[in-house]
Amino acid sequence: MSGYIGYIRVSTVKQGTKGVSLQEQRDAILHYAERSHLPVTIWLTEMETAAKQGRPVFNQAIKLLRSGKAKGIILHKLDRGARNLRDWAAIGELSDQGIDVHFVTESIDLQSRGGRLSADIMAVVATDYIRNLREETRKGFYGRLKQGLFPLQAPLGYLDQGGGKAKTIDPVKGPLIRKAFELYASGQYNLHSLCDELYRLGLRNRNGGRVNMSSLSVVLNNPFYIGLITIHKTGETFVGIHEPIIGKTLFDRVHGILTGKTNTRIQRHDFPYRRMLSCATCKLTLIPERQKGHVYYRCHTRECPQSCIREESIATEVSYFFQRLQYDDQEREYYRARVQTLKATWASRREEEIKNLNLRQSQIKDRLNRLTDAYLDQALDKTMFEERKKSLLLEQKSVEENLMNVNRQNSSSPEKLEIFLELAGNAWLSHQLATPADAREMLKIFTSNRQAEGQKVDLKPAPAFEEIANRSKIESCAPKRGIPRIWDEILDTLVALNSRGELPDLSALAVFQHPDDATSPMMDGRDDTIALAE
Ligand SMILES: [Zn+2]
Repeated sequence: MSGYIGYIRVSTVKQGTKGVSLQEQRDAILHYAERSHLPVTIWLTEMETAAKQGRPVFNQAIKLLRSGKAKGIILHKLDRGARNLRDWAAIGELSDQGIDVHFVTESIDLQSRGGRLSADIMAVVATDYIRNLREETRKGFYGRLKQGLFPLQAPLGYLDQGGGKAKTIDPVKGPLIRKAFELYASGQYNLHSLCDELYRLGLRNRNGGRVNMSSLSVVLNNPFYIGLITIHKTGETFVGIHEPIIGKTLFDRVHGILTGKTNTRIQRHDFPYRRMLSCATCKLTLIPERQKGHVYYRCHTRECPQSCIREESIATEVSYFFQRLQYDDQEREYYRARVQTLKATWASRREEEIKNLNLRQSQIKDRLNRLTDAYLDQALDKTMFEERKKSLLLEQKSVEENLMNVNRQNSSSPEKLEIFLELAGNAWLSHQLATPADAREMLKIFTSNRQAEGQKVDLKPAPAFEEIANRSKIESCAPKRGIPRIWDEILDTLVALNSRGELPDLSALAVFQHPDDATSPMMDGRDDTIALAE
């Protein structure tokens, strides 16, 4: 081939600027080619936009020239602006290889010594400029990350505050993102129905449109919301200085559901005790069925001496279970006094806990330092380093969260116990007033095992309620002076559970919700009890 490439570059950004329209450039190149007797056999047009990086068509032209598919190239003009410096490097190289390069309007003649020198200088400047630019960008990017700043566009729920400042929580979208995590953690939604619900609640994407499933999945997987910055491309993680929207516990739960480790089949509530009772003999779930106006829960194992219970019988047993939790006035008076004295010892125990957590925190810091040293000494490869760093940072988050919890508990911890006792004692009434779905949740929280044997139901209280539920039997035949003995034991158990954070959260039972209750988890629907037949 002995033809020439006619190369046209149109900028859609600067469209309308005099003399650069596609047709004008084409005419000028054609005119130049005719005058110089250069046959143009290939026309290439580059459409430049501000967003698009690189010049794919120019690269294609270079490729054609290098492979000998064209003899030379005629360009209308190459600006000497920073954006085009890289092209000058390529042009200089082409000219060195004996390829014929022409400019229609540029005052550079590459055939002349001065022209070549000019192009060479351009190429050298370009090489240096590009190298420097790359270095600067890298430094700036990583510099920011190391300061805990996210140098890219703020994730949904956050607002950009300019390069040198941390992202701030969007006052409107931030709480909705929090809600998204909470709703998903409830297990009542899949991504599809959560998209609908969030749209209904008013969450919109940056363009004011609906947040779709893939964006939502990105949100739910992004540890930015717990205060970490992850760079996907490199797998690196940094500690951000922005305020987290959610805690690690909630994030972990959502992650568990997303990865299928937490089972959250959306349950239907047509039968109130569906999937709630198991057969005492074979441990399989009783299956509800409607017969002649009554609902029966029946074991379907063939060789089992069959448990079969009417729904009304279960309801009576459940109601009786909650009644057993009610206290009389003397009991209430006694535990309230005890809680008051507990408040005093609480403070010192808390100090101890804070000391331990601080110790763990500095241990993690040491380990991070040692890890970095090992990496710098090249004792570790990058993947291993990033993996370990991430796990240490996650651990650090856990400790931080525990520390925050301990700090938040403050003097409120004995109060938390008191609230728990009040709400537990009122469970019977709450259960009567609850919606069917909430009543099911309550039963799950208050019991650890629900079995049927023949026509009898056996509800085993969850650890936190065991002593309270069982005490009423003793109490009914014991004199009132038995109260201290029984209640001291109950309180010991509950204090221990509370300090391990295992006291069930009954806040949903409170008639008057605390106004700033945003941080309290929803009712924990852990179903670690029944042997379910799948
Ligand atoms: Zn059975």
